[in-house]
Amino acid sequence: MPTPIRPTPTGRRDEGGVGTRAIVVRAGFRLATAQGLWERFGMQSNGDGMQSTAETTWERVRFDRPAPGVGRITLTRAEAANAQDYLMISQLNEAFDVAAQDTEVRCIVLAAEGNHFSSGHDLRDETDINDLPIVGTQCHFDAEGAEGYMAREAELYVGLCWRWRNIAKPTIAQVQGKVIAGGLMLVWPMDLVVCSDDATFADPVVAFGVNGHEYFVHPYEAGARLAKEMLFTGRPITAEEAHRHGMVNKVVPRDDLESATLEMAAHIAKRPMIGLTLAKQSVNNSLDAMGMYTAIQSAFGLHHVAHNHNMRLFDSLVDPSGLQVIRDEA
Ligand code: ZN
Repeated sequence: MPTPIRPTPTGRRDEGGVGTRAIVVRAGFRLATAQGLWERFGMQSNGDGMQSTAETTWERVRFDRPAPGVGRITLTRAEAANAQDYLMISQLNEAFDVAAQDTEVRCIVLAAEGNHFSSGHDLRDETDINDLPIVGTQCHFDAEGAEGYMAREAELYVGLCWRWRNIAKPTIAQVQGKVIAGGLMLVWPMDLVVCSDDATFADPVVAFGVNGHEYFVHPYEAGARLAKEMLFTGRPITAEEAHRHGMVNKVVPRDDLESATLEMAAHIAKRPMIGLTLAKQSVNNSLDAMGMYTAIQSAFGLHHVAHNHNMRLFDSLVDPSGLQVIRDEA
């Protein structure tokens, strides 16, 4: 197949005073060097490391620093209920990189504009993965058979979720409205979850003839019984249920969601970075000792048995009849 043409850099820097600078980053860039990456995002050395601009904006996400020590990433595709196309996922990863490298940030919030946190993966996505930076080690994305598509999901879904889960800083998901399927793949990799009382969480994709979404940590996050109920029935669980089962840390009225999340983040950010990082790694290591990563990989293999089963029966990665079932029950 022909080699994809890599677009040239189109990042634009808005000039302004230090601390108030904003930068707009556009898609279509293949980073060549680490220096190029940070220059593109408007980051500057502050002696101890890199410091971000006050605000960085991509097409699908925005990064800002709303409180001392706190970096916030916001999904900005409210008109599509923050459905995730490859572009959003890639730009979200870039924003996490900015937040992770910014020495001013000790705690990262992931928020979303609009009524709903995320409706999941964008089924009408037309983004070409070859136009996006590849940060993992997957390859041959256009290969025939199972090879190419499995590599895509390993790179953009499981690979990035696991990467975000292991960022060496505390992360908090700030969640409102509906979280559906792939939406959970943004919530569950975060360390803490604060949600509004109208939030609901569902993974209805068993109706598509698959085992669940690709970052399969349902039993770890919801407990085995509730995980099975979520998967078997596709039923959205409520914020109260999620709290009762330990899946979220705090439930607040919708009007208080942003302030409650920022209050928690700012409180955490006062602690030493080393303590926070080691505490996070210690808990994550405990989950890994329970087999979390192996379980994810096992489920991912079964997920691709399902994709290939559906492809043989329906010439589609998923059972097409599932779409109506999910819509009817949404
Ligand atoms: Zn899949």
